[in-house]
Amino acid sequence: MPVLEPLHTDTLLRVFQLVTAMLAVATLGGAWHLKADRALWYWAGAFAAAALTQGARVLVFALQWPVTLLSVGHLGGLLSALMVLLGLRTYLGLPLRCRVPLLFTAAASVGAFALTALTGVLWPSLILTLLASAVLTIPASRAALRAWREQRGFPLGLLTAVLVGSAVVEVARAVAVSPLVSATREQLMTYNAFGLLCLIGLVIGQALAMLLLMQDRALRQIERLIEVDVLTGLLNRRGFDERLRRLMRRGGPQPPLLAVLDVDHFKRINDTHGHSVGDAVLSRVGERLRGVLRPQDLAVRLGGEEFAVIWLQPEAGAEARLGERLRLAIAALPFETSAGPLSVTASIGVAQARGPEEAPEALFSRADAALYEAKRSGRDRVVLAG
Ligand code: GH3
Ligand code: MG
Ligand code: MG
Repeated sequence: MPVLEPLHTDTLLRVFQLVTAMLAVATLGGAWHLKADRALWYWAGAFAAAALTQGARVLVFALQWPVTLLSVGHLGGLLSALMVLLGLRTYLGLPLRCRVPLLFTAAASVGAFALTALTGVLWPSLILTLLASAVLTIPASRAALRAWREQRGFPLGLLTAVLVGSAVVEVARAVAVSPLVSATREQLMTYNAFGLLCLIGLVIGQALAMLLLMQDRALRQIERLIEVDVLTGLLNRRGFDERLRRLMRRGGPQPPLLAVLDVDHFKRINDTHGHSVGDAVLSRVGERLRGVLRPQDLAVRLGGEEFAVIWLQPEAGAEARLGERLRLAIAALPFETSAGPLSVTASIGVAQARGPEEAPEALFSRADAALYEAKRSGRDRVVLAG
């Protein structure tokens, strides 16, 4: 492999040690600084484990301790693979069944130690730890791949590619260490150098993917905070405008239906029972609206005591029925509050989009005009827009 000729294995090993130590510091510092969730701490632990065991290996060499202790150095990859798996499960919210992987890691470590002690050579224990860490990487790769298929996005794609790459490289390294493949020391050094080069690339890719995943999660949380109403947990006006525009552009056989809803005489509730009871009623109104919608429909708090609902692909001619369902969701049963049960009604204007050519603002103002008409003609009713 002429491309590797100028690269000495020991130099590559030092670079690998330096890189893992730097990544351990960067991810540990990042986890502390970002007050990140447990996933990043596990991932930082993966780099720390690799860096520490590499350090232990250097120490064993420097102090010329027995060869048996060198198998400590092989633990790094195994522990890293375990921490990566735990971090990924935490990140994806999968059940943390870690007993089997933990036992597996412990058994492989003891086995590696015993093999070195028994045979007096390193390669059998190295093959065992490399294969074991490849085995631990398989469930992590599968989980990342499944998540990427569902959610897409560059950071998950990168992590999947890096994990699959790691499993392949670990197996290749295990095969290469065997005396059957590396008959001479020169061959062993060449394969080792190649493996180390791959590892350096993979470990950097892994850290980048993990930090990008954390950034992605933080951005999503901010997006959610910007678009969600705190009191009801429904979308707020900003989220609504964005969704309505997107949904109307998408079109489909049946254009979306929009209802605009305003609680009747809400000021009286505040004035009679106080603002906190008013807040509780608004929060329950949100729950009831959500309760009568399908998962694909949207409920929004536009502001104050005004709400909106978007039905996607509604049945033809269902405007009146769906509007009435909303009205009854609020008026049929009193709301249980700290001031006792309160009966509340709402006025509703419903408009069906005229197709992708109608501007969202035009649809909204037709529904709003129908709501105004419902208020004017006596409240607690549904009016369909013309
Ligand atoms: P109408 O039937 O004509 O809609 O009468 P209304 O009393 O419901 O309408 P109005 O616009 O006069 O009053 C709305 C009230 O809603 C006034 C405002 O203090 C109250 N409100 C707005 N936002 C909130 C909120 O977040 N919490 C509470 N508790 N009250 C709010
Ligand atoms: Mg109002
Ligand atoms: Mg009102």
